[in-house]
Amino acid sequence: MTNDALKTEHNTGRIINFGAGPAQYPLEVIEELQAEFSNCCGTRRTIKELSHRSTTFAKIIQEAEQNIRDILSIPDTYAVLFLHGGATNQFSAIPFNFLKLKPSQTADYLVTGYWSERAAKAAEKIGKINMVIPNQDKYIDVPAENTWNLTENASYFYYCSNETIHGIEFDHIPTIVPQDTPIICDMSSNFLTRSFDVTKFGAIFASAQKNFGESGLALVIVRKDLIEKSNNESIDDTRSYKAQMDNGSMLNTPPISPIYDANKIFNWIKRQGGLKAMDQLSEKKSGLVYEVIDQSNGFYVNMINKKYRSRVNIPFRIVTNGTPNEKLEELFLDEALESDMDELKGHRTVGGIRVSLYNGITLQETTKLADFMRTFQKNNS
Ligand code: PMP
Repeated sequence: MTNDALKTEHNTGRIINFGAGPAQYPLEVIEELQAEFSNCCGTRRTIKELSHRSTTFAKIIQEAEQNIRDILSIPDTYAVLFLHGGATNQFSAIPFNFLKLKPSQTADYLVTGYWSERAAKAAEKIGKINMVIPNQDKYIDVPAENTWNLTENASYFYYCSNETIHGIEFDHIPTIVPQDTPIICDMSSNFLTRSFDVTKFGAIFASAQKNFGESGLALVIVRKDLIEKSNNESIDDTRSYKAQMDNGSMLNTPPISPIYDANKIFNWIKRQGGLKAMDQLSEKKSGLVYEVIDQSNGFYVNMINKKYRSRVNIPFRIVTNGTPNEKLEELFLDEALESDMDELKGHRTVGGIRVSLYNGITLQETTKLADFMRTFQKNNS
C-alpha cells in the first residue's frame, strides 16, 4: 500500500485505532518502516531476515537499550531486558525469580483490576502471596493505603499502574510500602505516557504492543542486585532474569522485528521531546475526552473515582433513563466506524465503550473523537 493509500479524507492517515492493543503506531514510524522495508539498514534484506548475531542487529539492540535508558534516566544499577512472551510471561517470571527474596517467602499483591488479578493468580501457582486489599466486586476505585494489609518483610510488593480493561490508573507510586520491600510494577498500558522515577522500583515490565510497537515483546527493567539474589538456579533459563541478563537478552533468537520497531518508536519519542512531551500529550488527550464525559449531563458515564481515572484507557457507558443503553452504544460504534474511528468497543467484562489513547494517537485524532462524541449526544439524547 502506498502512503497515499493510507491517507483518508480527514488526512489523519489510516483508520484511527482507538483499541487497547495491539495499538496504533505513530504514522511517522510507519512511513519510516515502510520506506526501508526491503532494505533494512543497508543489508538488502528485511528486518525479519536479519541474523540476531549480525553486527547490524547488535547495534540495533544496543541503541534500543541506550535510548530507553536515556528516555527514562535508567541508572547502570538496573538491567534492561528485551524478552519474549509479552507481559503475560512476566506474571510467572516475577514470582519464579523473586518470591524467595526474603525469609517470609511471601509477596504482596495489590489487585485493582483484571490484569493484576491475572498476575496474582499466576503467582499463586508458584508460591505464597498475600492479597493487600479484599476482593473488589467492582473495580472502580482503590481503597486508601492506610487500610492495606501488608506482609512484614514481604519479598516484594506487586501492582499494576494502569488497569487496561477497567481504566484505573495510579498517578503516584504507593507510599506505604516499606523502603526495603522492592516494588514491582506492570506498566504495560501507561509505560512511556507518564514521567516516573525508575529508582523507586525493584522491577518494571511492559508489553510493547501499547506504546512501543509490536506484540510478543516485553521490556523488563530490573535492579541488578535483585537479579543476583534471585532464585535463578532452579528455574528454566527463559524465565531467569540472571540467564537473560548474562546473555544480553539473546539466550535464544530474540524477537528481532519488535525490538527493531521499539527502537524506532524510542527515537520518535526522543524527537517529540522525550517523556515529558508524552506526559503532556497524554494529559491533554485524556482531558479532551473526560471533558466531554463530564459535560454530558450523565449521557456518558465513567464509573471510576476521579483520582484513579486512567489517561490511557477510558471506559464509559451511554446512559439513558438511568440505565446503560446498549442499542445506542452499538449505534455509537457503527457511526464512529463510518467516520474512520475503530476499536472503540468496551471489553466484554465491562461492556460499553472504551477509548484507548496510547502515544500513537495524536491530539488531532482525539479532538476528532471528542467532537464526534458531542455531536452523537446532541443527535441522540
Ligand atoms: N498487563 C496489562 C496491564 C495489559 O494491558 C496486558 C495486555 N493487554 C498484559 C499485561 C498482557 O500483555 P501481553 O498480551 O503482551 O502478554
